[in-house]
Amino acid sequence: MTLITYKIEIKPTKEQTYLIDRHIGVSRWAYNFFLEMNQQRYQDGYWYMGAYEFSKWFNNEYLPINPDDLWIKDYYAKSTKQAFIDADTAMKRFFKHQSEYPKWRSYKRHQGSYYFVKNGAKQVIACERHRIKLPKLGWVRFKEDGYLPTDFEHYVIKSGRIKEQSGRYYLTCLVEQPEQLHELLLGDPIGIDLGVKEFAVIDDGTIYRNRNKDRQVKRIRKRLRRTQRKLSRQYIAYKARKMKEGRSATDLNLAKTERKVQRLYQRLHNIQADYQNQIVANLVRTKPNWVSIEDLNVKGMIKNRHLAKAVNQQGFYNFRTKLINKCQQLGIAVHLVNRFEPTSKICHQCGYKKVNLSLSERIYRCPNCGNVTDRDINAALNIRDTDNFVLAY
Ligand SMILES: [Zn+2]
Repeated sequence: MTLITYKIEIKPTKEQTYLIDRHIGVSRWAYNFFLEMNQQRYQDGYWYMGAYEFSKWFNNEYLPINPDDLWIKDYYAKSTKQAFIDADTAMKRFFKHQSEYPKWRSYKRHQGSYYFVKNGAKQVIACERHRIKLPKLGWVRFKEDGYLPTDFEHYVIKSGRIKEQSGRYYLTCLVEQPEQLHELLLGDPIGIDLGVKEFAVIDDGTIYRNRNKDRQVKRIRKRLRRTQRKLSRQYIAYKARKMKEGRSATDLNLAKTERKVQRLYQRLHNIQADYQNQIVANLVRTKPNWVSIEDLNVKGMIKNRHLAKAVNQQGFYNFRTKLINKCQQLGIAVHLVNRFEPTSKICHQCGYKKVNLSLSERIYRCPNCGNVTDRDINAALNIRDTDNFVLAY
């Protein structure tokens, strides 16, 4: 059995949207409340309460003497409890020096989620091709069909959450499913060379172009830059007015522009996500024996100022995650090739290493065996066949 995460956009009705928003708000409240209470306990010299103990204390001791907070009982209890667990996890990471002291969850940063969990062995979270049935919400429709598995004999939806991002709602859920049989994977292995010029070149010669060079994307980016400039102008004006009028100053236009910026970001993100999903679907269609990509040192590339912007915009990291998730679902092995492997310099036919290969040489010409191949295809072939890799999952 393996656990796989699925993410899909949903299309809630007006009432459902209202309920989801309320639950998100409550989970934010519960998360912050957990941090606040434990901070106070720490100051008063009491021990730290973990999520389980906290939840018991909250229901049995806190609520009976604080009837003003009883409204929380109107919400799905598991959702509140999960917020405690999240806060607890964040605190424990802090204790182990793995992260900073957790911050408050804020409305402005779109934090908080509606959570749901499968209760006990018998309950089934029902899911059909185009909708899913969730506690307190009922049937919620998907924006795209057929994304989640609906075969309940083999798949079990364990838990999930809904988050909001610039007015859109996304459902992430954790599904338990059986490992697929590897005998089915008879397709040729695939090597992928990711790059800045083209998004990806496959060893069979398929090229996935860099969408950032598309007119549509360029136009959105241009509009985004302009809107961001407008936003910063409005923000300066707003701050000046706040000095004069005090706390009562508001700026509706500023909020409108903020929203516009978020929308544009979201559009760029959606274009990229759709494109990457398409590529992943194409790659796994032949049921390849394995898929091989470079274990890109994205952080290192981002430190290089000139490459940083281009690499950031390509979203390699997201692509890698999508590819690995999909392959894991199908049981396709993913090879992550060591990034120090000189995949572009080696001749795929004879193994000769061309030490002084310059970036401008788009065609690989081997001085040893006379092999002439497109530079990126040669690299993709090496990525496909090298033994110097680790498995992605
Ligand atoms: Zn050669």
